[in-house]
Amino acid sequence: MSDPAGRVSAGVPDWAEAAADVARQAGVQPRPNGMLADHTTMRVGGPADLLVDALDVAAMKRLVRGARSAGLPLTVLGRGSNVVVADAGVRGLVILSRAEGCRIEGTRLIADAGLPLARAATLAQEAGLSGLEFGLAIPGTVGGAIWGNAGAHGGDIAGALESVTLLRADGSEAIEPASALALAYRDSLLKRSPGDLVLTATFGLAPADPAVIKARLDDIRRWRRDHQPLSRPSAGSMFRNPAGDSAGRLIDSCGLKGRRLGGAEISEKHANFIVNSGGASAADVRCLAELARRTVAARYGVELAYEVQFIGDWLDWEGESA
Ligand SMILES: Cc1cc2nc3c(=O)[nH]c(=O)nc-3n(C[C@H](O)[C@H](O)[C@H](O)COP(=O)(O)OP(=O)(O)OC[C@H]3O[C@@H](n4cnc5c(N)ncnc54)[C@H](O)[C@@H]3O)c2cc1C
Repeated sequence: MSDPAGRVSAGVPDWAEAAADVARQAGVQPRPNGMLADHTTMRVGGPADLLVDALDVAAMKRLVRGARSAGLPLTVLGRGSNVVVADAGVRGLVILSRAEGCRIEGTRLIADAGLPLARAATLAQEAGLSGLEFGLAIPGTVGGAIWGNAGAHGGDIAGALESVTLLRADGSEAIEPASALALAYRDSLLKRSPGDLVLTATFGLAPADPAVIKARLDDIRRWRRDHQPLSRPSAGSMFRNPAGDSAGRLIDSCGLKGRRLGGAEISEKHANFIVNSGGASAADVRCLAELARRTVAARYGVELAYEVQFIGDWLDWEGESA
């Protein structure tokens, strides 16, 4: 267990009470059960000291400002589809980003950060606006997608985002053009300025026939069903693709498809996916990912970099024994 400065302390969680005060002052009711496995697509992860939903942008601002002025460790999660949360859980306040407002103005779609990206894609289609179709493939929120410049099927956030409203680490708000976020392959400046949060996003889209956009969405849905292990919990691709190659191909060619560790398994359908085939722990997932990383490095000399983010209290993780 660690405090905001990273110092280790022994004993029972010490942030729960301070976090409860912050939630009370923000007028937000905590969730009675803070198990994060229930809020991540990999279905692993221990408890938050305190777990709350920010149901609108105003609640998000009150919670974040309150947590920061109380010196609380703070984690904001979207749909938990790009993270592996430690079995020991996450210290401090965990906020689930659930502000899902959305409006269309001309050819712009303006969304709160908690809106599921797939929902943004279908709302745009209904309005006859093209440019967010790729988002149907991505089971995260608008905010999480901007954080990692999510992309699929030839599109990405960088291709559609015009501007964002940020809540800065110092508590101020700023409207920034997309160019200020340095969006690149699965990357943005937000990854290096963790105090900055996306509150809302404006996408610039192009008018198109809703029937044509719908056909494109149907194609994407079909492709995903055929190529990804969607019936099992996962966090999507574990690793970024190295330049000029594919992480899945490298892992597959090491003969690792189907390899299991505890309840974690390298998917038979897509070797860059680790799936929870029942009862996996976060340590199972991370150990298996490390095994894949070591094997690929030994065979090809390629150091795979993680696309997923490991969050929470990994201090007592016994990965080296894997
Ligand atoms: C089956 C499956 C398929 C997938 N396919 C793809 C794919 O094709 N392409 C792709 O790019 N990804 C894919 N992913 C990964 C994942 O869905 C995306 O990375 C998604 O954008 C993550 O969004 P999230 O809301 O779940 O973020 P989370 O996993 O909840 O959080 C990820 C990071 O974003 C930060 N964050 C969340 N909200 C905000 C905010 N408002 N402001 C600032 N930071 C924030 C969090 O703090 C955390 O650091 C897939 C995942 C799964 C499970």
